[in-house]
Amino acid sequence: MTATNLLELDRDALAAYCEQLGEKRFRATQLFRWIHQKGASDFSQMSDLARSLRDKLAGRAVVSAMPLVSEQASSDGTVKWLFDVGGGNAVETVFIPEDDRGTLCISSQAGCAVGCRFCSTGHQGFSRNLTTGEIVGQLWFAEHHLRQRLGLAEGTRAISNVVMMGMGEPLQNYAALLPALRMMLDDHGYGLSRRRVTVSTSGMVRMIDRLRHDCPVALAVSLHAPNDALRDSLVPLNRKHPLDQLLAACRHYLDNAPRDFITFEYCMLDGVNDSDAQARELLALVGNPATGVSCKFNLIPFNPFPASGLKRSSNERVAAFARVLQEGGLVATVRKTRGEDIDAACGQLAGEVQDRTNAKVRMTRAPVQLHRVGSAAAVAIQAGHADRLETRT
Ligand code: SF4
Repeated sequence: MTATNLLELDRDALAAYCEQLGEKRFRATQLFRWIHQKGASDFSQMSDLARSLRDKLAGRAVVSAMPLVSEQASSDGTVKWLFDVGGGNAVETVFIPEDDRGTLCISSQAGCAVGCRFCSTGHQGFSRNLTTGEIVGQLWFAEHHLRQRLGLAEGTRAISNVVMMGMGEPLQNYAALLPALRMMLDDHGYGLSRRRVTVSTSGMVRMIDRLRHDCPVALAVSLHAPNDALRDSLVPLNRKHPLDQLLAACRHYLDNAPRDFITFEYCMLDGVNDSDAQARELLALVGNPATGVSCKFNLIPFNPFPASGLKRSSNERVAAFARVLQEGGLVATVRKTRGEDIDAACGQLAGEVQDRTNAKVRMTRAPVQLHRVGSAAAVAIQAGHADRLETRT
């Protein structure tokens, strides 16, 4: 008999499990606290649990995160863990400490099928979805590992914020994500506020709507372009869910959201999406009273990797782009790059993925048309070859 990993079960599911064992449902809350608040995995240590339950759990159940492959610590305090998810796959989790918060960036899939051009994970292809226990297990491991390492007093949290921005498109793994989010928010678990848990999506319109009903947490959307022509090239999902649908889903999301704005992530790509004209086009897109949405922009310096064929915008260009947005009345911040010395910065998470989608081949072969906005110029990129950038007028 395979032991049940209790990290897979949110509190309701744990109550049902306790019932199956012939125990009262309320025992689940005690057990849940031991696991998620105290980080316990040894049932014999759970002193206030009924002996009968402890005996039944021993041999039938485990509390077990994914096997750790490696840990790397950056000079800036960022920590990156690589976890083995079996079948030759590994995923990464990153802890980013700041003065007023500790943020954990969690992966939701081994690889990713969306295939964004600027994303190292996207170039790896897709292998499989993570389970609920594998998603929440990243938080369970990191929280209790960091507490020990930092010598934190009981009840003091190491992690105050979670961002679902690691490997994978979280909304493509919704069935596993939802219980994991509930465990993060549960007062008997991690007790994180909805404002401090962020799901980042590349634009899965129907699933944004479901999240709004089921578990509205903070929402970030990978935008990266001010129009459909360019976004089609950078974020392939845009061909299915173009910008008008995406912005409408964002507007509706705000009806239930814990924050009154959507965060738009915008990866700054040299000569591709970083002109002043494109910043003005963004202003027109999101500022339109009928079609726009209340938002903030997070400008992300691109972390180049050879297969992308793309380059990072200069600091001056990023600052100029931000200025146009700010002068247009938007909040636009430039993301600090953290953990660069351990390849833990945004878009650098690669893990190890046995690709089932042939992504590398597809992305190398497919030519991408990128249209420069606000001028007659069009830029064509042959994927994977930045040196072939051509400008046509
Ligand atoms: S940016 Fe996100 S959705 Fe796009 S390929 Fe990377 S992990 Fe997938």
